[in-house]
Parts: sequence; structure tokens; C-alpha cells
Amino acid sequence: MSYCVNCGVELNPGAIACPLCSTPVVNPNCHPDAAEPGFFPSRKEEVAPVSRREAALLLSSMLLSVAICCGLLNLVFYSHIWWSFFIGGAMAMLWVWFVPPLLIKGMFIWVRLTLDVLAVGAYVCLIAVALDGMDWFLALALPINVAAVVIIPVLYWIIRTRRCSLLVSAVLVLMAIGLFSMLTEYICDRYLIGEWTPGWALVVLASCVGLSIPLIIVRRVPSLREEARRRFHM
Ligand SMILES: [Zn+2]
Repeated sequence: MSYCVNCGVELNPGAIACPLCSTPVVNPNCHPDAAEPGFFPSRKEEVAPVSRREAALLLSSMLLSVAICCGLLNLVFYSHIWWSFFIGGAMAMLWVWFVPPLLIKGMFIWVRLTLDVLAVGAYVCLIAVALDGMDWFLALALPINVAAVVIIPVLYWIIRTRRCSLLVSAVLVLMAIGLFSMLTEYICDRYLIGEWTPGWALVVLASCVGLSIPLIIVRRVPSLREEARRRFHM
């Protein structure tokens, strides 16, 4: 075994030059072999990227096979409970989350977010139908889902059309989280105890406001803004 006299890298038997530093190899005991394959390929080639349609097809077949396998398993075991129904619903929800963005190029994010939230709503509706719980679905899950369907795209639309900076976007997201928590608690309280008694949502809202204040200060003070931009590469 021989090593490069310059950089010490291990050399192939018969190598005529060091693969790392190109120092010529002079070894009287070994005949240089120009046909010896080098350490690195001489031609650069790139692996073709996976097509989006193929990825969508692969993902769809994976989700479908999980649903079918669980359905068959359900037929054989525990056939008195249709548990595979819920797995199938979850797979359908995952399909809506991941496959349309692969198939439709340049899909608007707000359309995607709305679809995602609607898919969650549809899945919860499926559970409600299966468990005979349409009353809690209509009074509880549906209003929360509608709140999410309204808040998320509106938030995205504001950030996008106003070309908000990262700091302003973070403040808007925190405000949306606070608002959504308040709405969720309101809907839950109205359903469960008949009146609104703000509790955990106030803690969430206070935390969001508390986190927003330093961000607003950083946004307002030019020297802090510059420092944040430098430190976080914004
Ligand atoms: Zn070398």
C-alpha cells in the first residue's frame, strides 16, 4: 500500500497521480497503469428529479394500500367494530393534504390551507356520523372548523397582499393564534356549560400578546431592526 508523498492520502495500486493533490506518483516497484480507474468519476451526471405525477401516484397508492390492508384486517379481526373506517378517513385526509399540491403546480397556498382545514372538518364529520354524534359535530366541531377556514386564508391573504416582513407576519400569526383560541374556548364553553367563561384561551392570548410586544418594538426601533436583520439574516 502506498501513500502520497505530498498529502499522505492512500493511493490505488498503479495510480499515476494523487487523486487529491495531483502530485505525480513515482514508485519504482509498481508499474503505473493509466487504465486504472480514478477515485472520482470524470463525468458529472445528475440524477433526474422525481416527477410530481409519479410522486403523487406513489403517495396515493401508499395511502390506498394502508386503507385496503386495514379494511381487510378489519374484516378478519374485530369485525363487530368498523375501526378501519376511521383509518380510511384519515388516509383520505392525508391524500387531500399532500397529493393535490403535487398534481396542481403553482397551487395558491390559501387554497391549499383551506382545503387542508376542510379535509380535517370532513374527517371529524365522518367520525361524528360513525359515532352518532352529529349534535357535537354541529355545535362544536363545525364552528371551530369554520373559524379555522376563515382565519387561516385571511391571515395568509393579508401577509401576502401587504407583503408583510417576517416580524409583522410573526405578530399577525400570534394574533391569529390568540383569536382562534378565544373563539375555540367560546364555542366549547357555549356547548359544554352554556356560557362563556374565559380561561385557558386568555392565557394563550396573553402569551401571544406578550410575545408580540417585543417584536413590535424591534420593528419600530431602526437600530434593533437592523440588528435583528443582521443576526437572523432576514
Ligand atoms: Zn496527495
